[in-house]
Amino acid sequence: MSNHSNTIFFSKGDLVFKVGDEADCAYIIESGTVGLYVDDQTGSLITTLNSGELLGEMGVIDSSMRLVSAYAESDLELMQINKTQITQRLQNSDPIIRTLMNVLLKRIRNMTQPNYREVRDANKTIGSNEHNLNLTEGIHKIRFEKELFQALENGDVVNVYQPMVNLDQGYIAGFEALSRWKHPEKGMISPFEFITLAEESDLIVTMGLNIFDNACRQLSEFQRARKTYDFKLPDLFMSINVSMAQLSDAYFFERIKQIAEKYKVKARNIKIEITESMLAEYGLVRRWIKDCHNYGFKISLDDFGTGYSGFQHLLELDFDSLKIDQAFIRAIESNPKSLIMLEVITEMAKRLGMSIVAEGIENLEGAETLASMGVDFGQGYYFFKPMNSEEIISILSR
Ligand code: C2E
Ligand code: CA
Ligand code: CA
Repeated sequence: MSNHSNTIFFSKGDLVFKVGDEADCAYIIESGTVGLYVDDQTGSLITTLNSGELLGEMGVIDSSMRLVSAYAESDLELMQINKTQITQRLQNSDPIIRTLMNVLLKRIRNMTQPNYREVRDANKTIGSNEHNLNLTEGIHKIRFEKELFQALENGDVVNVYQPMVNLDQGYIAGFEALSRWKHPEKGMISPFEFITLAEESDLIVTMGLNIFDNACRQLSEFQRARKTYDFKLPDLFMSINVSMAQLSDAYFFERIKQIAEKYKVKARNIKIEITESMLAEYGLVRRWIKDCHNYGFKISLDDFGTGYSGFQHLLELDFDSLKIDQAFIRAIESNPKSLIMLEVITEMAKRLGMSIVAEGIENLEGAETLASMGVDFGQGYYFFKPMNSEEIISILSR
């Protein structure tokens, strides 16, 4: 055997590793053939591996020892992969992928148990508390994701709508669509608990279309409900939250256009809320905003002031609306600085031609302060909590 940096050479008949050795690395077979044996080369041959295949990865993944012996069946060239190269990636990977990997490994081990020696020792790590914890967590997540998928199919993921009020004159100007999961046992589940889960899989794309469809259908219904008593007010609008995964989906934009057309809602009455954190994908977001503007959709920058993006993005991207984060609104009472900042942000938004929304308004004082500053719209428990569409319709037609 000789060693040039990461490449290791063996001659025909050489031992690469034997049963019971510590598994501290894996190999990619660059050329030649490796035989895997139950014991030593006199024992039975399990399989042979050829160039391009991976060797010895199993022990590395679950930190056990070699369960088979590997011999060079011909002259052999192997590229060594360090343990950390593998484990680091696994640790950084999606918890569900990690769990699947562990489940598969466990199954493989159980299946092959009679062939291998010292399996019990090797299973030490697999049976460890930490491992079981990760496994339980991962399995819980898979189950939860499956339930969410089912809920989506059953129509148990629904929208509620929170009115946004014109602060100057007090009328309902529009709504934000917020999603809820009606769970048969757990009751209403908050989007904080399931949006992330949906984002980790591709479920968010289907779910997002569902949310969009419901929101557009309701908007046209809300508009009709109100028209019966007051047609002098501007059209109602609907704000809809989107996630990064939706923007990255090639068909999402086409689909939401179709939905808007299906319900005959005017594009300018739809406001798409994106968050500051999404601006990290600058190029993509820029293109998306352009597409939306070409079609007529409005773009609102949500949670303004919480992210790291600062003013650079306001300079380069065109938002129609700024939504100041609730933290600023909450600080009105306790921190006089927040008032000054709110004044400046409002003035800036106006001069840049953006409308400005304050969310999380919980009392009269907040509402009055913000109205006097010239903030256009207010949203918060002081006015209305998020409600289902029947409640909204009854308020609109009151
Ligand atoms: P967000 O977009 O910042 O939505 C505002 C959140 O503040 C909502 O929580 C709303 O119910 C809550 N809120 C409104 N007024 C008040 C108030 O006066 N006081 C307090 N304490 N809270 C108030 P919700 O509905 O739990 O939504 C949480 C987050 O989940 C949303 O934050 C949004 O990031 C995400 N989300 C909700 N629905 C969707 C959706 O359809 N798609 C996506 N991608 N994300 C969604
Ligand atoms: Ca929002
Ligand atoms: Ca927000």
